Formats: sequence, C-alpha cells, structure tokens
Amino acid sequence: MSANSLLADRTRKVEASGIRKFFDLAGQLKDPCDLSIGLPDYDAPDEVKEAAIAAIRAGQNRYTPSAGLPELRRQISAELKSAHGREWPILLTSGVSGGLTLALLAVVNPGDEVVFCDPYFVSYIHLVNMVGGTPVPVATYPDFAFRPEAVEAAITPRTKAIMINSPGNPTGRVMTPKEVESAARLATMHGLLLISDEIYDRLCYDGENPTPLPHAPDNVVALRGYGKTYGITGWRMGYAAGPAWLIEEMTKLHQYTYVCAPSMAQAAALTALRTDVSSHRRDYARKRDLVCELLHGAFEFVRPSGGFYVFPKAPASFGGATDFCEAASRENVLVIPGNIFSGRDTHFRISYAAGDDLLRRGCEVLCALARQ
Ligand code: PMP
Repeated sequence: MSANSLLADRTRKVEASGIRKFFDLAGQLKDPCDLSIGLPDYDAPDEVKEAAIAAIRAGQNRYTPSAGLPELRRQISAELKSAHGREWPILLTSGVSGGLTLALLAVVNPGDEVVFCDPYFVSYIHLVNMVGGTPVPVATYPDFAFRPEAVEAAITPRTKAIMINSPGNPTGRVMTPKEVESAARLATMHGLLLISDEIYDRLCYDGENPTPLPHAPDNVVALRGYGKTYGITGWRMGYAAGPAWLIEEMTKLHQYTYVCAPSMAQAAALTALRTDVSSHRRDYARKRDLVCELLHGAFEFVRPSGGFYVFPKAPASFGGATDFCEAASRENVLVIPGNIFSGRDTHFRISYAAGDDLLRRGCEVLCALARQ
C-alpha cells in the first residue's frame, strides 16, 4: 500500500502545483524585487505587541470560550451597532480562513455548489472542494464588476452559497453599494447564504467598503480579520458576524476543530481596536497612486480602491500571463500570474505592499517588458 493510496479524494483535488512552481522559481532568485507578497510590509504597532506579551505574562494562555472573549465580542458588536444600528452574534475565528472554512462546513453538503466571482482569492476553489462542494466561478472580466444577472444564471437547485470579496484579492476592486445590495437580494430571493469576505475592509482608499450585512440580516455572514490591518497575519485572528442560526452552528464546529482563536491574539485585538492605523492606510493610498501612475500607458488595468493589489492585463506580445511573469522573474521581478486566481491566464497580480524604491524598480522592469 502506498502512502498515496491513503489520501482522500478531497486531498487529491487540492492542487498546489501552480503556486508551488511559482515559489520554487522565486526561491532560486537572489534578492528579487518581490511584488508578490499578500501581506502588509509594516509590522504590528508596538502597543498591540505589548498587549499580546502582557496577556501571555498574565497567564491568558488557556482556552478561551469557543466563541471568543466576551469583552472582544461585545466591542465588535458595539462597533457594528454604531455603524448599522443593530447587533449581530459574533464568533472569533482563526483568521478569515477559519471563518471561511467554518461557514462552508456549516452549509455545504457533498455536491452542493458555491458561486463566486472569477478572479477569486485562491483558497475559495480549494476550500469548497475540501468540504465536498463544487466551486462555480463566474467570470467578471474585464472590469471585475459583480453582475447579478451572471451570478443568478449560475444558481441551480444545488447552490447553497454565494461568496463575495470586497476589496478584492487579486483585483483590489471595491464593490459598489448597489452591487453589494444586489448580492444580498439574490441570497434572500434564492434562500442562499451570502459569505462576504471583508478582510481588507479597513484598507479602502476612495470611501468605505460596503457590507451586505444590513441588507439581508438572516442570509449574510461577514468575515473580517485583524491580520492585514494590524500587520499580525501570523496571529490568526478574525471574526464572523452573522445570523444567530449560523453563528451558533459555526461555533459548534469551531469547538471541535480550531477550539478557539489564539488567546493572546484575542487579548491583543482589544488593544488593536483602539489603535490608530490610519497612517498605514494613507501610505497605501499613496502607493496605490504611485503604482497606477507608473503603470499608466504601459498596461490596461482597473484602478484599485482597496487592499494592496493591482491586476493588470499581461501584454499581448507574451503567450499569456504565466509567460509574462516568467519573463519578469528572469529580470528578477516577482509578480503572480492570473491563472492562480482565475480560470484565465490573461492578467497578473502586483502587490504594492512594498517599499517605494522596490515599486519603482519593479514597475520600470514590467513596463520595459510591456514595451518590447
Ligand atoms: N480572504 C482574502 C481575500 C485574502 O486575501 C486572505 C489572505 N491573503 C484571506 C482571506 C485569509 O486571511 P487570514 O490570514 O485572516 O486567514
């Protein structure tokens, strides 16, 4: 019996090849101009670090209640109330990934379908496969807008959930309030769960990120995180806000999987909520402007409004985005081909979570390749 024959179908379905191949290539480069990173280039604020250390020293090292520290849940609930005039039950999760996994585990039976926009965050396909579901990506090229007609056409009697992501990874696009409302309406009309991945909600540069939460209070779960906003991606902290029927079931599943979000990270999140990171947001807004200016004229792209990604079209002179990204890596610049995030290989992702010098150097190389 080979070890391979022991593997479950769900494991075989998860293909690591695209990303692995790319990072193997990256690993061979010496001091690359790395514009591939999906996390902020700033470190956690000192007071947040101190709060985690103080929590550890004070003995907050044991399990917390599965749903999370009541004080933190109360504060999140109060924030939602002041923003939307009502409260939602909260589950503190191990990052947004933890929330996505639990939400899908809670509603997807084998063979059920989950509809989401293409391009998508890379985990969506794999998570849906892992829970036995069928991923149903709906293309949004060339402007990456949420088109309710296209999403509705993809809904079948097997559909259980729609997933949206704003600001989007890899596009950086922020959904319009109208798009978000139409997503909520579809979920209500068809009796589906709308899973709203809002991990970059605090990194928006042209206004606030609209959430579908208030538009379909019984059908929406919003997933938010602390990792990107506060530079603590390794601490695995996030939360789910949604209807009691779902949060109760997700909490039950949490108890037997992750058990609870990390205790010291929960304690530090209380401090994070009081910590002003608007200077980072301003800095990233400026980087967004810089990158758009540098790429202007050489690439077709949708100007992003949030997160830290731009998703330009690969130049037609290359045989697709992978070909273009390989050419860029030969020039020591790392950007990620779109087929990692999409059924198409026409675009590539630049992360501007990097120093200005690196951004200038990298964009100069990319533009020179585009003009060849
Ligand atoms: N959703 C999106 C859109 C993301 O970009 C990421 C992280 N790259 C995640 C979810 C996962 O976040 P976390 O680290 O909080 O699990």
